[in-house]
Amino acid sequence: MPNNLGAGVPLCDLQTQYRELQPELEAAVLRVLASGQVILGPEVAALESEVARACGVAYGVGCGSGSDALSLALHALDLEPGDEVILPAFTFFATAGAIVRAGLRPVFCDIDPITFNMDPLQVENKITERTRALMVVHLFGQCADMEPLWRIAERHDLIVVEDAAQALGAEYQGKRVGSLGSIGCLSFYPTKNLGAYGDAGMVVTNDPEWAGRMKCLRVHGMEPRYYHKYLGWNARIDAVQAAMLRVKLPHLERWIGDRQAVAARYDALIEEHHLTHFLERPIRRPHRRHTFNQYVVRVANGQRDALVRQMKAENIGCEIYYPLALHQQECLRYLGYRSGDFPASEEAARQVLALPIYPELKAEQQRRVIQCCAGFLRQQVRRAA
Ligand SMILES: *Cc1c(COP(=O)(O)O)cnc(C)c1O
Repeated sequence: MPNNLGAGVPLCDLQTQYRELQPELEAAVLRVLASGQVILGPEVAALESEVARACGVAYGVGCGSGSDALSLALHALDLEPGDEVILPAFTFFATAGAIVRAGLRPVFCDIDPITFNMDPLQVENKITERTRALMVVHLFGQCADMEPLWRIAERHDLIVVEDAAQALGAEYQGKRVGSLGSIGCLSFYPTKNLGAYGDAGMVVTNDPEWAGRMKCLRVHGMEPRYYHKYLGWNARIDAVQAAMLRVKLPHLERWIGDRQAVAARYDALIEEHHLTHFLERPIRRPHRRHTFNQYVVRVANGQRDALVRQMKAENIGCEIYYPLALHQQECLRYLGYRSGDFPASEEAARQVLALPIYPELKAEQQRRVIQCCAGFLRQQVRRAA
């Protein structure tokens, strides 16, 4: 990955953070290697209680990835094949993939165009007698609108599962993600708020029974050894990853603050360059702490893809999360949805653009990102004249 000082700006930069913590990270790895405890063991147990505490819940169950976390949560609920889970049509594929792979039926609902999160007003008419759970995603690092979702869940006796993969540290009315539903699913994919050096994830919950079941499911459903109570699989978190995550966890709050500062600088730069009508800035809803795992703008006038080409040409990192809504994905065609079913999700897929954001991103780099966008717009205006 290119360094900070080149003309370009990388979409992400894992090396700067690594260099900051290099001695502690390397000591943590060596500690695990020397201990011989490379599968589960004390590092994993310690990380589980530290992350659970950071989420304000009682139990953490470390697992191989955020995707494993979603699967463990859904299997722990002990639902019947064909039971329905409602989720937003605009999220990362894993949210839906885990539901299908657990033998359940994903039922999509549209998003609130302001926050890109599940629109509570659209949820209730998706509920049938087979609905068992709401899979609430906190997309880009900002909490979904929980209050109305809680009321719906209560009224229809639904379990709330959080896909908090992008939102560790985010808050809603002062409560942490992971504590906003019955089970919270976290990812430590390297670009998430708390990133491992490889794959890792965790499920958090206040329910001792679900926590125990998920601990069992992640080791092939074994209890006791070689007696298989559940149809589990290998979903363990690596002890080396757990040790490194323990080094990084104490810095999470500072890094979230840095992400928020980066977001505020982008806001100001977009304003300063008179781009507010071209790049619609992300909106923070009240009573929420947005962790800015991503800084996602909407690009106006159908110019998104042309802008992306220009940014790529100038070596300015950017990414589209996500170019296609889930109800339009090829492998989910059997569900019978059509284009037009979820207009807000489809429009988001056409307009969104994520700019580089990480705690170490420098103001000067952000200036280059926004200057590139401003240059593109000037060119368009000149061409149209
Ligand atoms: C990253 C992510 C996941 C999956 O996490 P992995 O650790 O990559 O398996 C699930 N849902 C959302 C919304 C994500 O962003």
